[in-house]
Amino acid sequence: MRAAPAAIWEPVGRSVEGRPIEAVTLGSGARRVLLIGGIHGDEPEGGRTINAVAAYLGALRPDATIRIVRDLNPDGSAARTRTNARGVDLNRNWPARNFAPGGERGVAPLSEPETRILAAELEGFRPDLVLVCHAARNGPFVNFDGPAADLARSFAGAAARTDPRWRVVADMGYPTPGSLGSLVGVDRSVPILTIEFSRGHDPDAAWLAMREGLTAVLDPGDRGPAN
Ligand SMILES: [Zn+2]
Repeated sequence: MRAAPAAIWEPVGRSVEGRPIEAVTLGSGARRVLLIGGIHGDEPEGGRTINAVAAYLGALRPDATIRIVRDLNPDGSAARTRTNARGVDLNRNWPARNFAPGGERGVAPLSEPETRILAAELEGFRPDLVLVCHAARNGPFVNFDGPAADLARSFAGAAARTDPRWRVVADMGYPTPGSLGSLVGVDRSVPILTIEFSRGHDPDAAWLAMREGLTAVLDPGDRGPAN
């Protein structure tokens, strides 16, 4: 059996320090799924799975069009910082109704090249579902915004078959003004899953969880007759 071909990543823009931000589109189904490998540079756990995820989904050929943005914050990843190179948290810089200017949130929504690049992806691709990878000390769990409770349960339930720690956490327990989840899920009612690996998550275990979780949310059989 031939190994799945590696995804062909294409640059869609550049970070503050000029690093390419790369994306790939897989499949051609009607359902449109956007996956973001990482947004906080000190949370590399999800991004480490992304090449394997892209190869797997390319071979799986689910009935969906899948757009993957490999890493929204390559400068932060290089420097191992949460923020981008200008000290802005790219998950607080969105034109959500709860945006609050100042500090790490930026002077205005979309003040950063990285968030403008992803905003253009959202406008151009018009996803029906967004998944974004993070990591948390109390991970792994799946958080969600918008009409995504069933999808969060599907992902976490499938991931839990690889690691029983996986669960759904509906409330992060702190405010997240200007977050991607606030814009996409709360304001626009598009389901968005925040995949929170544990900090320092074993890469092989993270990949298994992603494989099972993504397969569950992409398989119409797991979404129930209501869908
Ligand atoms: Zn994060």
